[in-house]
Amino acid sequence: MINGYTRPTAVIGWPVVQSLSPVMHNAAYEALGLNWACLPLGVPDQRALLAFTEVARRLPFVGFNVTMPYKQAMLELCDETAALAQLAGAVNTVHCVDGRLIGYNTDGRGLLESLEADVGFDPAGRSVVILGAGGAAGAALTALILGRAKSVTVINRTLERAEMLLGRVQNNLRNTTVAAVPLDISAESPIDEADLIVNATSRGMSVFDPSPFPVEWLHEEQVVLDMVYQHSETALLRGAAMAGARPLNGLGMLVAQGALAIDIWMGGDGGDVRAPRDVMRSAASAALGIQCASIGGDPS
Ligand code: NAP
Repeated sequence: MINGYTRPTAVIGWPVVQSLSPVMHNAAYEALGLNWACLPLGVPDQRALLAFTEVARRLPFVGFNVTMPYKQAMLELCDETAALAQLAGAVNTVHCVDGRLIGYNTDGRGLLESLEADVGFDPAGRSVVILGAGGAAGAALTALILGRAKSVTVINRTLERAEMLLGRVQNNLRNTTVAAVPLDISAESPIDEADLIVNATSRGMSVFDPSPFPVEWLHEEQVVLDMVYQHSETALLRGAAMAGARPLNGLGMLVAQGALAIDIWMGGDGGDVRAPRDVMRSAASAALGIQCASIGGDPS
């Protein structure tokens, strides 16, 4: 029930019409008994982004999520940013505290949470390949370093972007070794040797997209996580299943990154009350089903 005491949260991006965040978040607020409401706010350009950040500073916003294409730009607009967001080079969650914007990145931790909850995978001591070098890949890389992966190879169509990503984390590697490889035949060997393959490219967002690499390179005992959540089966995930590997789509990660944002806004990041992941997943799955039915696509 929205009333005079309701505090706003939002998801900002362009476009945001397909965003699952409002349904996931509003379901969680209701389950938690929080008088908060999440709105999708389409922010068409940089000027509108600046105007919104001023509004968020001055009005009683709890916080907001940031989606494409503003995750990198938001890093510069926050008054303070968590170390993980700085290393990832992107902010997807902002907490509004006394007129200040505090930036976080929950995508990487969402990835780790989904890997553990959905397929029982712990990256510690394991070899990982990340495809892509954008914001999502940066978040995955920093989280996997935090998760003590033995090695992470970043494979990207534009090699320089992968090298730039590695440059950013170079001083925070702990015991993880990292490498950058172009998305061509030289990617076969690291993919063959990986325990976990993460697709953080936007290839797969359309149901007609082919896999970013030949699925014949996959084999049993690998976990293949495609960050795409718009449909349950991408060409990559179909190939992974056929190869006997364990396929996982991005829905669990989406739910976890949103839940971790609410945990931060409740001030309890790691505290007793946690956002209800099961409620959020059900709400997101139901909304995805409706979206897919309306465009005649995959219902799951
Ligand atoms: P981004 O910053 O725009 O990066 C896109 C990446 O995809 C770049 O590395 C780009 O390579 C690569 N790419 C684009 N088209 C390609 C193609 N045809 N072949 C090979 N590589 C291609 O995007 P992002 O924010 O990192 O998001 C990437 C994906 O992750 C999206 O599908 C997004 O929806 C998903 N995501 C999911 C979650 C979740 O919670 N499940 C969270 C965040 C993101 P170049 O550098 O060569 O251009």
